[in-house]
Amino acid sequence: MSVELPEAKILADQMNLELKGKRVKSYLLKDYERLQRIGMMDKDLTSFNQLVNRKIETVASRGNVIRIKFDNGANLILGPEYGGEIFYHTDAANVPKFHLRVDFSDGTVLTVRLTSMGVIQVLKDDELERSYVYKRDFDSTKLSPTDEEFTFERFSKRMADHNKMLKSVLVGKDAILVGVSNSTFQDILYRARLHPKRKASELNAEEKRSLYDAIRLVLKERIRLKGKDKFHDLHGKQGSYTPAMGPNMKQQTCPECGTSIEKLSLGGGHVYLCPKCQV
Ligand SMILES: [Zn+2]
Repeated sequence: MSVELPEAKILADQMNLELKGKRVKSYLLKDYERLQRIGMMDKDLTSFNQLVNRKIETVASRGNVIRIKFDNGANLILGPEYGGEIFYHTDAANVPKFHLRVDFSDGTVLTVRLTSMGVIQVLKDDELERSYVYKRDFDSTKLSPTDEEFTFERFSKRMADHNKMLKSVLVGKDAILVGVSNSTFQDILYRARLHPKRKASELNAEEKRSLYDAIRLVLKERIRLKGKDKFHDLHGKQGSYTPAMGPNMKQQTCPECGTSIEKLSLGGGHVYLCPKCQV
């Protein structure tokens, strides 16, 4: 299942608790040829050797990307944003299918499997900028909606500079934020009661406030409910957050007003909305 900002944060927090201080005994890569062909893994896999015998210092996430930092300046970058599974195991003999398996000196194991587009990379601190996903989401000039620096004032100011449709301001490489996917965008806009074709700079103060509050609410609720309903955390536990709007509302009616949900083609993707509530 997709691992976006809330799920990446849940995993990083859990990894910080379980993995910090552990030493890598060995690693194993499997069935990775296809991943290399489509650029989800580097051609040269000797970079993974840097992890052997090294200790995990800390684990952090920003946007959809997880950074596991080792005591020799190497980093394991995990970005399973369109689908992946990251699990921790205390029984080394009983692990599911994986692309990367990391065995620790205490007998515990971490497995990573990409089920759709994503990234598994090992990079030294001074090579991190080479990683497209790291560069995109750890870019400190962009706001991260779960950071303390994401204030209404800052958000509001950045919004005012953009005479573009909300989707391109909130989602994708030119967004002012990190970690908002097209599916999260639909959920947020429905809760903010805004039409996805509205332009950022044209929102009034009240609308900007609803949008800001909806962004915070959706991400906070997804973290509180342990991720989206198809996501499994580090211990295999399933999340229970269901989006208020998105593909799951296809051919349904709006729970607020009873109007049929519409599907709109927008910015190279589809957006579901309530044409009555979202104006
Ligand atoms: Zn409605």
